[in-house]
Amino acid sequence: MTTYDAVVVGAGVTGLVAAWRLAEAGQDMLVLEARDRVGGRLRSEVHDGSLFEIGGQWVSPDQDALKALLDELGLRTFPRYREGASLYVDRAGEARQFTGEDLPVGPATAAAIEQLTKTLDDLTAEIDPDRPWEHPEAERLDRITFQHWLEEQCDDVEARDNVALYIGPAMLTKPVWTFSALQALLMAASAGSFQHLVDADFILDRRVDGGLASVPLELARRLGDRVRLSQDVTAVEYDDEGATVVVGQERIRARRVVLAVPPPLVKRIRFTPELPSEHRQAREHQSFGLVIKVQVEYPTPFWRETGLSGTGFGPYQLVHEVYDNTPEGYQTGHLVGFVSDEEADRIGRLSADDRQAAVLESLVGYFGEQARTPTTYVESDWQHQELTGGAYGTSFDVGGLTRYRQLLREPIGPIEFGTSDVSGLGFQHVDGAVRVGTDLAQRVLSGR
Ligand SMILES: Cc1cc2nc3c(=O)[nH]c(=O)nc-3n(C[C@H](O)[C@H](O)[C@H](O)COP(=O)(O)OP(=O)(O)OC[C@H]3O[C@@H](n4cnc5c(N)ncnc54)[C@H](O)[C@@H]3O)c2cc1C
Repeated sequence: MTTYDAVVVGAGVTGLVAAWRLAEAGQDMLVLEARDRVGGRLRSEVHDGSLFEIGGQWVSPDQDALKALLDELGLRTFPRYREGASLYVDRAGEARQFTGEDLPVGPATAAAIEQLTKTLDDLTAEIDPDRPWEHPEAERLDRITFQHWLEEQCDDVEARDNVALYIGPAMLTKPVWTFSALQALLMAASAGSFQHLVDADFILDRRVDGGLASVPLELARRLGDRVRLSQDVTAVEYDDEGATVVVGQERIRARRVVLAVPPPLVKRIRFTPELPSEHRQAREHQSFGLVIKVQVEYPTPFWRETGLSGTGFGPYQLVHEVYDNTPEGYQTGHLVGFVSDEEADRIGRLSADDRQAAVLESLVGYFGEQARTPTTYVESDWQHQELTGGAYGTSFDVGGLTRYRQLLREPIGPIEFGTSDVSGLGFQHVDGAVRVGTDLAQRVLSGR
């Protein structure tokens, strides 16, 4: 039996970056991917002749690791359309225009948002995204929910709901009473500051020509037949010398294994000997959030004609955020919106037609009647895919970060673990996947 230097399980960005760095270093290696395509949570589809990015798509200026990889792969980016006024739909359902970052709310609410933002930014500056549990107040912050923390800070409900939106529905995609204040601070620290999460022009700055899925496609092209598709790894037997990876009837031997699959999916694999119980426990506490990404195409970007950018926020709306998502060079107009956590549960129970009608009704609340009749309507489906299981990524429940700390990044024997779900900088983002993939390859090469 051939013994490879390394086998990488999972051809998302983490696995493919790790594989490409190992290949560059001359390692004899293989990538095993369960799906019949590479890219994991990055996937582009063509509907009615137009390109839609079903998973990750945006690149922000702080994402140095991703930007360097885009340069290396020769992939071009273009800015998201943002000319004109944004919309804020308030609790009464009234859509109000604004420019800049300050929401058109009453003066007391505006002052409360400013104060909360400052408090969050001050705390975030003290957090090391790679070691949030080392903050002097980590344990206290990890034992209270983000909702509780917000209530401690501020009496203004609309201010709290707006600040909650940026980390709950918009990022971790879980209700704010299900994760800790420390997990919220990690989310902000992973993007450089809370202010960065609020600033759509920063966090959703650019897109990749042809889609962000061009990254894994290009890495896989370079790796060639070292990437094998439809290889669902069901078992790993390991010892001091290496590991045997089992796919169907085939057994593949390697000195090292990089398991680049999201933490909740590790338990689909049978390990011999079993993983230490603490590791299994830790992964039980890191779960996927849920967001449905909805995209619509219209004959023209009609909102631009009335001076609107296509950006809208509505903490009380079914679609809590919406953006112009027209690919560069298109004459048609695309909008992308997001339905998160309990709202996603709720519309998930509707028929496809009723769900579409509910989403379009919400878009009408932002852009008027013209929004009701798109030519194309596309929904993401990650929650239905066993090899992902939610969106965008995973996070710990209350107390998990300080209880399990760096456990999810710890190797066991010859096996390394990691995806963007365990990154510090770039947490839950493709930038994090690039960082983790690079780090995993370095660990294999250094003989760790
Ligand atoms: C709707 C949505 C929108 C997003 N928006 C953005 C965005 O705008 N910008 C951004 O930076 N990020 C965004 N993200 C997050 C980003 O897509 C992910 O952080 C990133 O793609 C994760 O890459 P990964 O390689 O770490 O994990 P994954 O992409 O999950 O890759 C894991 C791979 O392992 C495979 N696998 C699992 N189990 C096995 C097994 N047993 N055997 C073999 N293979 C296996 C899976 O099929 C998959 O291909 C978004 C994600 C979603 C879902």
